Formats: sequence, structure tokens, C-alpha cells
Amino acid sequence: MNAALEPALRGRTHVLLDFDGPVCSVFAGLSAAEVADRMRQRLRDAGQSITPEWEEENDPLALLSRISRALPGLAEQADAVLTELETDAARLARANPDIKPVLDACVGTGRTVLVVSNNSGQAIDLYLRREGLTGQVERVVGRVPGEPASMKPSPRLLLDAMGETVAARCVFIGDAVRDVEAGHAAGVPTIGYANKPGKAAKLTAAGAVAVVESLLPLADALTSIDSHL
Ligand SMILES: [Mg+2]
Repeated sequence: MNAALEPALRGRTHVLLDFDGPVCSVFAGLSAAEVADRMRQRLRDAGQSITPEWEEENDPLALLSRISRALPGLAEQADAVLTELETDAARLARANPDIKPVLDACVGTGRTVLVVSNNSGQAIDLYLRREGLTGQVERVVGRVPGEPASMKPSPRLLLDAMGETVAARCVFIGDAVRDVEAGHAAGVPTIGYANKPGKAAKLTAAGAVAVVESLLPLADALTSIDSHL
């Protein structure tokens, strides 16, 4: 077993789980670039002019951040548009088959799973229902509607998910540097999921306490490492 997983999982009763990456590829069917395009078109149709900087942005979540920084009054509408498009994307998202053993291991060892994501909670809820996973997830914490500043690397969503649970009982699993940064800011260790070449080094450099290239060893470790102190 990856020795770094032992301290990251022992005594951790609450598993905070990023959505896009560990659970599924949200934009595998409806691509991120297509969602960004449709988002611009919907705003244009509503009479909003689109700046050249917004035209260049192919990541819809980054586009939402750009829009809200430039025009805070447009944040709520842009977020609502994106939420609808993400919900369409969630219908076509590609499942990560290795997440089920992770969820089974968490439930089997009495751990609580909370999904913490920059995606819209509505889209995540739809996906979890689609895959029959709602019974294994205690709560979904998506970005705060109309407040893209709540997104990771801000610790806000993680802190919201943790509630009264002390950080020493929590671990976060994410596939992006911003996840590691958000975990650090929330005082929670992050296990990096390096699902693409080159990610492992970036996640390690960002401060991930352990890095796995597959979720299956993580599922095994969750099963064999006690969640109780
Ligand atoms: Mg992710």
C-alpha cells in the first residue's frame, strides 16, 4: 500500500470528495468548450455584450468567474445559465467506474461521504440519481449560486461541508491543484488523484499528502485503515 495513505486515512470519518474527475468526467459528452459557447450565446440572446476576454475562455467555470469579476451584477444570471448547461452535461457525463468501490469502502467502514465541487449542486444531484449513488452520499456541496468566489481554491465549500466536524476527522480527495489549495486553506489533508499524465508531480508540489493514479488502491486502503482513532 502507498504508505502515505495510512496517516491520511486513519481516524478520518468524513471523506470529502471532489466531483469532476473522481466521480465522473462531467464534460465528456457535452464538452467544456461547447458549454462555454452555449453560455455566451445564451447571455448574448439575453442582450448582454460579450467581451473579447470572455470569448477566449473555454472553461465554463473560469468563464463564470471572469464574468462575475467584471460584472458582479451579472453573476447570478450567468450562474443560472451555467447551472442549466451543467445539468445537460451531467446527463451525458462519463462515469468513473472506480468510484463505486471507494463509496462502498466508505459506507462499509462507517465513513460519511460529502461531495464538494465547483460544479452546480443541481447538476451533481442529477448525476448521483442517474447512477444510483444518492444513498452513499450524505450531502452535496456545490458552488454557492451567484457567488463564484465560493469555488475552490477558496476553502468555503469544504468548510461548509465539514460543518461542526473537526478537520482532524476529515480528508479530501481531489484531482486538481486548486483542490489541494482549498484543502490546505481549510486545514484538511488532500489525497491527490492523478488521473492524467503529469498531474502527480503538480499535486505533490501543491502539497497533497498522498497521490494515487487509480482510485482502486484508495478503496483498498479505506477498507483496511480504521476510521476510528
Ligand atoms: Mg476535479
